[in-house]
Parts: sequence; structure tokens; C-alpha cells
Amino acid sequence: MLYHSTTTPSHRVDLKEAILRSLPPDNGLYMPDALPVLSSDFWAIWRDLEFQEVAYAAAHAFFQEDVPAAALKDMVEGTLTFEVPLVCLSPGDHILELFHGPTLAFKDFGARFMARLMAWLVRGESRELTVLVATSGDTGGAVASAFHQVPGTRVIILYPEGKVSGLQEKQLTTLGDNISALEIAGTFDDCQRLVKSAFLDRELSERLNLTSANSINLARLVPQSFYYLEATRQLPEGVDPTFAIPSGNFGNLTAGLLAVQLGLPVKQFIAATNINDVVPAYLKSGTYEPRPSTATISNAMDVGAPSNFARMQALFGNSWEAMRQKIVGYRISDDETRAAIREVKSLHDYELDPHGAVAWIAARRWRAANPTHPTIVLETAHPAKFLDVMEHELGKGVVEIPERLAILAHREKVAAKLAPDEAAFKEWLLGNR
Ligand SMILES: *Cc1c(COP(=O)(O)O)cnc(C)c1O
Repeated sequence: MLYHSTTTPSHRVDLKEAILRSLPPDNGLYMPDALPVLSSDFWAIWRDLEFQEVAYAAAHAFFQEDVPAAALKDMVEGTLTFEVPLVCLSPGDHILELFHGPTLAFKDFGARFMARLMAWLVRGESRELTVLVATSGDTGGAVASAFHQVPGTRVIILYPEGKVSGLQEKQLTTLGDNISALEIAGTFDDCQRLVKSAFLDRELSERLNLTSANSINLARLVPQSFYYLEATRQLPEGVDPTFAIPSGNFGNLTAGLLAVQLGLPVKQFIAATNINDVVPAYLKSGTYEPRPSTATISNAMDVGAPSNFARMQALFGNSWEAMRQKIVGYRISDDETRAAIREVKSLHDYELDPHGAVAWIAARRWRAANPTHPTIVLETAHPAKFLDVMEHELGKGVVEIPERLAILAHREKVAAKLAPDEAAFKEWLLGNR
């Protein structure tokens, strides 16, 4: 299979380049030349398969002959080591819990699969793969955990000093081994600028085998399509669900569109955003107007220029009409989100995190107009990751803190402090090999 850039479709590369390069030189996004479809043989039996078997079939449809069956099976099984329960709050109102992975957020799916695919792509090479990632919070933790002790790789995480939460910082700085954390005396933008400067530096790219664990990497999208199949399989046959997706960069929703390409019957997608509503606004007006983001309590969705938007457009043949038939947008305020957290707790004794709460209100509005159709809300993070908001709405001690988050508090942070300076970063990279 070849992969092309959404900006210059004649720019085509193989799987290894699409994954290790992550971003085409023209700043487009890589897409597979032919969108995979699962056969009618698969759809005849898929309800009788295990989750890992369904996921393997989807992964094989994407990668085909480029990844041998045994290697792909290891990647899928190594990624999916935790459960994905579908919880029914009331008839028609379902929650898909995507937070049972090691860092308690759905980003574990993408990061764990990417780590395994990258390690396989560079197998047998003498040089180690150096993975650079700038993070403002959750991505760094998922990537660190996913690559920890993966042979042939080392990860360098840049994060802005004083600007990530205490537990998030512990997720980045306590693993050791092949994971290093750099605490940058600057902003998230400084961190991103340093990562970019390393890729543009000829000497560094010759001496180090550099790649990025960027969220627009195709390797992170493919495994996110798996759970759309798994959730649908748990509904009665013949019921086409509507998925409500709390969205920021729209990787999660794009993965749902890929699942539809595979042949999954989905009635609609709900693009649920906080007040950073560039995509809902586009669905309404037909005009795409990215803008600087505004801070909210669902901060992983504070995105003003969603990085997967070009992929979404490509999947609809660049037709606004086609996109708005399949995707409905809702914009939810912080006050509405807080009220939903309290309401779901009092009605159903269930604790939704602020991101899931945004999607839950959107799903309820959608059901009001489509009363006979079920919705599935993707719950993207464990509520304990947003303890300050949860305690504010529900009181202290209500949300239980999972063991693997609690133990981090006692681990020792190890991070190198650096000025937001390109020369200093280069020196550190060359001196710490
Ligand atoms: C990253 C993230 C999102 C947004 O996902 P996208 O794929 O960027 O749309 C939503 N919720 C949580 C908890 C996240 O970490």
C-alpha cells in the first residue's frame, strides 16, 4: 500500500516513511491510497469473534501485505491488554469506557500501537530510533508509557515547566530506562519549536534516527477504529449506533470514519466540542475558520485548528454537504459541562469526566430529535485525571483514584532542566545518547 499527502496527492510514500516521517514535507496529512474495506465474509461472522480478532482483521485491512500476520497479531495483542466496557446508563444511553489503559486515557490505544509498529519498522537497524514528543499534558504520558522498555527505541519528552499537572508530570518523569524528560523553562509552543528545529537540523538527522510521536501519525488513528467495531458488536444486531465523540484534534472522530469505510454501520457521528467549536461552526456554515484556542475545563479539547480536519474533508470528497449528512456538531459550555457531571452522578450514580460530559450532553440533545436511536458516548479519560473539576462538582472523596495513578505520587521525578534554546537542546541530544 502507498500513502499520499492530502495536500499533494502525487507525493506518495511507503508505510515506513508515512509512519516514521509522520508529516509529509508539504504539511498535508498522510492517507492510504486505497481505503480498506472488510469483506462480506468478515461481516457475516464478526459478532462471534473476540475483540482482538476483530481488531486484527481491521488492522490487516489497513496494512495488508506490508506487515506480516504474526507481527501484526503481536502488535494488536500487545496494544489491547485492557478492557473496553460498554456501560448502559438508561435505555439508548451508552458509555464506552476507553480509559482502562495504563495512563487512564484513550490515547493509550494510539500510542501503544504506534510504539509497536515503529519498533517493528526499524527492527534489525543498528541505530536506535529516537522519538521526540512535545506535550502539554496527556499525550506525553501515553507515549512514555507506550514506548517504555520497547527495544530499539528511546523517547525524549519536552514539557513546559510548571504548566502540566502534578500527576501528569509524574507520568512523564518517573519511568526511566529508555524514557527521558526535559523540563523546558518556557511554554508548550517553545517545546514544539525545539522539536521542529531538531528535525530541520541536518547534523542531528544524520547522527540520530529521529521520529515524532505526533498525534497526526496514521499509526495512532488505525487502532482507534478498533473500538468502534467492538462497541457496535455489543448492541443488538441491526441497531446502528450514533457515536458522540468529545473532540479536539478530531483524531478520534476520524478513526470512526475509517471504521465506516471498513463497512461498520453507523447512523451518525456527533462532533461534541467545548467552546472551541471550529468544526461544529463549519458544519453549520460551510466555512472553515480556525482560530486561537480558549481555555476550558475539558482542556484536552482546547484546540483552535483541529489537526485532522484535512483528513475528514478527504474522507467526504471535500464535500461539506456529504460531511454534514454524517456528522452533527454540538458546542457545549463549561457551565453545561459542570451541570452534566452533577446530573449524571445524581441520576445514574456514574462519574463522567469533563470530556465525556461534553459528549453526553450532545448525545442527549441528539436523542431528543431522534428518540428511537441509541447513542454511544466515548468516555476518553478516567475522572480521577481531572480531580479538581470533579471535586468542585461532586465533593471530595467521591471519585476513587485508581492505584496506578495513586502510586505515582510517591515516585521520584527525574527530568533535565533546559532553557528554551535550540543550541542547548541540540547539545543535550548529542551528549545524551
Ligand atoms: C486528546 C483527548 C481528547 C480529544 O481527542 P481528539 O482525537 O484530539 O479529538 C478528548 N478527551 C481526552 C481526555 C483527550 O485526552
